[in-house]
Amino acid sequence: MIPVNEPLIKEKEIENVLECLKTGWISSEGKFISEFEQKWAQYCGKKHGIAVSNGTTALEVAIKCLDLAPGDEVILSSFTIISCAQAVVYARAVPVLVDSEPRTWNMDVAKIEEKITQKTRAIMPVHIYGHSCDMDPILALAKKYNLKVIEDAAEVHGAEYKGKKCGSFGDLSCFSFYANKIITTGEGGMILTDNDEYADKSRSLKNLCFRPERRFYHTELGNNFRLTNMQAAIGSAQIDRIEAIVEKKRKMAKTYTDRLRHIKTLQLPVEEPWAKNVYWMYGVVINESTGMDAVSFAKKLADKGVATRPFFLGMHEQPVFHEMGLFKSERYPVCERIARQGLYLPSGLTLTDQQIEMVCTAVEEILG
Ligand SMILES: *Cc1c(COP(=O)(O)O)cnc(C)c1O
Repeated sequence: MIPVNEPLIKEKEIENVLECLKTGWISSEGKFISEFEQKWAQYCGKKHGIAVSNGTTALEVAIKCLDLAPGDEVILSSFTIISCAQAVVYARAVPVLVDSEPRTWNMDVAKIEEKITQKTRAIMPVHIYGHSCDMDPILALAKKYNLKVIEDAAEVHGAEYKGKKCGSFGDLSCFSFYANKIITTGEGGMILTDNDEYADKSRSLKNLCFRPERRFYHTELGNNFRLTNMQAAIGSAQIDRIEAIVEKKRKMAKTYTDRLRHIKTLQLPVEEPWAKNVYWMYGVVINESTGMDAVSFAKKLADKGVATRPFFLGMHEQPVFHEMGLFKSERYPVCERIARQGLYLPSGLTLTDQQIEMVCTAVEEILG
């Protein structure tokens, strides 16, 4: 089976981890933590980097920095991972959804303003599968209505919007370094911000809100969301190779696109003129006219030795939120269609040209 993703671990990562083990710096203090934070913040053009245990906890901490009141609203796309919406719910705020736009599958910026109310406090753009959201209209709305912007940049390491890195636009931006992400630490995450207060607050929240001047005295509740030095050691080594990694991703995507472009029943990833797509995952949406949905297409591909993953299922279709009385009768047609018809093809950094060729042949055979 050709896997959907495999991490690519090189000698430098191993060397760094061994250094942690040999020197005993295996917990959440040590030189690699600050090195990783500084390198990533600098790469993305932000002042502060705060490493956390994963992307989900990065979102949780970032939302908490906003000090939302119960009932405050945060606008996000329905088409995303549960981490985004649950971070809002955990802060006792209300997630408010918008549909996707059909080309990039990102938040449809034309549908945001109608969702803004007196209670709206923030917009959370989630850059999907390697392609930037259209940030200018989002930033303009944020300015007009005095809203904060929290970027979820988990899937866009190295991607750009109008020449600037994704993750450099938000008041806070969140990254995941899970094993299938472009830069990985196994499990891991980071918050980036230019705001000194948010940075201090994030550091406190991820570390049980110990107070620097009096350690076991608490005025706030936090969590243990710390990253280990060993994980940061992996990430620090990976960042040094990011340009090559992004190039490889873009090259693999081009190989796929050149081979699959002729199949009219398959929508392929795009790159808008203002974007640099890093093709985190090579997503495709299969036309309903084939009589197939993503589940049946995935099964046929699996029979031919090709592993795939389905697209996200929209937040408005999640039973857990219906139970809470959220989104029950809401409909987001683009999100619903791509959730049913979309999947991603093998996209890992270990993929060879020959494997891509095999995947494309399998797709062609199925779609005739
Ligand atoms: C992977 C991902 C997350 C969650 O990151 P974890 O490290 O798995 O917790 C959040 N948002 C998006 C868009 C992701 O792709």
